[in-house]
Amino acid sequence: MSGVAERYARHVDPAFVKLLGVLGYGRVFTRASGVHVWDDQGRQYLDLLAGFGSANIGHSHPRLVARLHALLEEQPLNLCHTGPSPYAARLAEALAEAAGGGLEMSLFCTSGAEAVEAAIKAARAATGRSRIVFCDGAYHGLSLGALSVSASKRMRRPFEPLLPGCDAVPFGDAEALERALAPRDAALFLVEPVQIEGGLRFAPPAFLQKARALCTKYGTLLALDEVQTGIGRTGSRFAFQQAQMAPDLLVLGKSLGGSIAPAAVTMTTRAVQKAAYGPTRRFDLHGSTFAGNAFASAAALETLQIVHDERLADRSRDNGGVMLAALRERLAGHPLVADVRGQGLLIAIDLRAPLPSMTVRIAGQWLALALLEQGIILQPASQAWSVLRIEPPLTIDPIEIARAVEIIGNVFDEHRSAAPLLGRSGRRVVEQVIAKGRFR
Ligand code: PMP
Repeated sequence: MSGVAERYARHVDPAFVKLLGVLGYGRVFTRASGVHVWDDQGRQYLDLLAGFGSANIGHSHPRLVARLHALLEEQPLNLCHTGPSPYAARLAEALAEAAGGGLEMSLFCTSGAEAVEAAIKAARAATGRSRIVFCDGAYHGLSLGALSVSASKRMRRPFEPLLPGCDAVPFGDAEALERALAPRDAALFLVEPVQIEGGLRFAPPAFLQKARALCTKYGTLLALDEVQTGIGRTGSRFAFQQAQMAPDLLVLGKSLGGSIAPAAVTMTTRAVQKAAYGPTRRFDLHGSTFAGNAFASAAALETLQIVHDERLADRSRDNGGVMLAALRERLAGHPLVADVRGQGLLIAIDLRAPLPSMTVRIAGQWLALALLEQGIILQPASQAWSVLRIEPPLTIDPIEIARAVEIIGNVFDEHRSAAPLLGRSGRRVVEQVIAKGRFR
């Protein structure tokens, strides 16, 4: 075990390091630039994961790095609690312009889960209602409130009881949603336009439009969690813009900070902000020390400008279309591939089970490992290991896309049935067990 892994195991997360060792995933990644990542042995990888969708502008974008250098030279007041922050003000204005749809107000924070909490709180405070409706298969983060509206039983169970009054409806089922909203006691319906962690399940635009109409009809606020779909990922600045509807609350995080600064926001309308926090006696009911800090705000503002100047949403749509078509062609008829689907540079390879379902779940991780060994970083959806997710930085170019498709195709060619998969993975497990789960 390298010193890093040992120290990390001893003081941060022993189980994570052990799991990496047992699976044979042991790498210490140290540097990243553009679409590439390097490990401490100097090996280069093409990054098709982008920090789970956090590096849409690419790693260490030179413009962002230069802006942050310059900012620090300016000696900004980073945490401004006794007056309005010029950095947060400018970012909020840019966000309002980018989102449109009347989403003019920003509640800043530093993580996706926190921004989900902010949506729940704002909806309760604005409506005076308490029930929250969410979707089966949802992933909204791991803080207590966000967990209460996330589906994974394994992740929820150790922390129960969670928030009362949170009810799940099937994803994409407008009739079930109407039944849940009809009692007129729900403050919020919270949904992801694409359930990425849940297995890259794309909500049909008609469902989002219907959800919009139902929420309006029953006095429930509609929040879209675009923590991972936002900032150009699906081929528009925000996914909801392709569905031609607008939410009352929009939750953003991850790529907002350009993969350098922790930045997240809950955007909402002037009316919701006013109802929740308008009166002076309520102005401080929501907030936190780092909310809207200068460093994160400047990073997010520069990130939005880079997305605009480099036409990253359009490039995601166009290059995503090219990659999807190429993958479909390359993997056509592959016995392990049930479906290849995508929107922009967000693409799923859905694995089929020639064997019992347990195997197909593990197959996602084994294929990801085989790809890692060929210099490609990608991961299955965290809550659905039978679905490989592809979400590279949006700056990826057609040559890199062609290379990625070629390597993925070759690795799939080597695994045309369950036998080589089981053979290789079985050997690997045995090797790792003999090596006592050594980190390598
Ligand atoms: N919502 C969605 C849709 C996400 O994908 C994630 C993170 N994977 C979160 C919320 C939580 O964000 P964070 O990890 O920054 O708390």
